[in-house]
Formats: sequence, C-alpha cells, structure tokens
Amino acid sequence: MADHPRPLTDPGAALPLDGFVDRVPGWIRAMLGFCSRCGSPLEPGLVPGEHRERLVCGACGFIAYVNPRLVVSTLPVTAQGELVLLRRAIEPAYGTWAQPGGFLEADETAIQGAIRETLEETGLEVAPTTIVGLYSQPSSAVVVVAYEAIIVGGRARETAEALEVAAFAPDEIPWGSVGLDTTRWALRDWVRGRGLEPPAEGQATGR
Ligand SMILES: [Zn+2]
Repeated sequence: MADHPRPLTDPGAALPLDGFVDRVPGWIRAMLGFCSRCGSPLEPGLVPGEHRERLVCGACGFIAYVNPRLVVSTLPVTAQGELVLLRRAIEPAYGTWAQPGGFLEADETAIQGAIRETLEETGLEVAPTTIVGLYSQPSSAVVVVAYEAIIVGGRARETAEALEVAAFAPDEIPWGSVGLDTTRWALRDWVRGRGLEPPAEGQATGR
C-alpha cells in the first residue's frame, strides 16, 4: 500500500497563544514604543473587525503590526559527514551549541543570508543543498529556516559570535548542551534524515 501523506509536526504550536501583545518579545516591543507617524505612545488595543490586540496609536490610529522575522541558518556538513555547530557567544542561549544563522537582511535572498551568516559566524563558505525544515517560534517572533549545506571553502574558526566551532558525527550531537528549541528541532530532523532516532523530545523552553 502506498504511504499516505502525513501532516508536518509543528513543535512551536505547543506554546501558549493568549495575550498577544503581552507576549510580543521585549526586543520588538522596545522598538515599538511610539507611533512612527506622529510620535505618540503605542498602546495595546482592539481594532475594529479583529479579534486580537494590536499596538495602536491613540492619537492618529496608526497600527504597528508585529510580524515574525526570518532567521536563516545552515547545517554545514563536512566531507566526512559530520555536522558543524558553534557554541554561541551571544544571548539568547549563550554558551550552548547551535547552528550558524541570523536575521535575514531585506536586500538579500534567504540563501544569500544563510551563506553570509555562516561565513560570519564560523569562517566557513557553504552552499545550501536542501531545506531541513522551517521552524516557527512564536514566543520569540521568529521563523527559522535550516538549510543543509556543503562546505566549499574557508576555515572553521572562533568568531565574535562563536566561542567554539566543532564538527559532530550524527550520533555524537551534544543534545544536552543545545539551548534553542529551534536548533533542537532542526537537529532532530537532520539526524532522522541520517536514519537515526533522536533522543526523546523534552519540554520546549520558548527560546
Ligand atoms: Zn500616531
């Protein structure tokens, strides 16, 4: 019998979804204190015809929509089949292992951004080959795309954003020292693609 399509898993959906404006991440809320049109304070409020709070200007009615940002990342794989990870030198999740990645700029494609971030953070030049997955993290207002990538140049090194860069065999992923949910989700999908079963999924941390 043919395999039936199965719905994608959606681990980020397990996090609470009520109180939208209260849950806007602090770093975004800090940029949305005042109306960009008239300078008056933005306050949470209901907008006619909508059922969720928005950040609204009481003076001119401007609505500051809060939408997630795209984080572009790679899972660089060495010629020996090992996965390159870095130990984060920045918050959040300082000191934990993660894949290289960062916010996409408006003047680049997702693939260009993933290549740029990987070079900046690890010293490696990569070429994405496939999408491992797309991971929503509503509590941080980000969507993370993880590309598997081959290494085409450069040399792994410590950087301002990486305390350490190291390669791990698929059965040697440092699961206990992964700090970001989206990294764990991507690594789980990646090792499954290598025919391995990742450790049992723990509680999402919301970051
Ligand atoms: Zn205004």
